[in-house]
Amino acid sequence: MSPQWIVVIGLIAIVYFFFIKKRPTVQNSNKKNDNSTPKDEVQSNDMVECSTCGVYCEVSDAILSNNKYYCSNECLEKE
Ligand SMILES: [Zn+2]
Repeated sequence: MSPQWIVVIGLIAIVYFFFIKKRPTVQNSNKKNDNSTPKDEVQSNDMVECSTCGVYCEVSDAILSNNKYYCSNECLEKE
């Protein structure tokens, strides 16, 4: 292999290196502060919004009717 080829390969390697470097790196822009949780520890239970009053309550406590969640029977009857 002649020295010229080594130079050419070296240049290609440099160009390739710059292309790799200049390629915008995928950054996790959606950094979420998981530390911003309220005092009460977030339970694993999913929270659902009451269809009537908008109060959030746990799925286990919510009343499901017509694919809508309600926090109480009152809200269920109001709807
Ligand atoms: Zn409600």
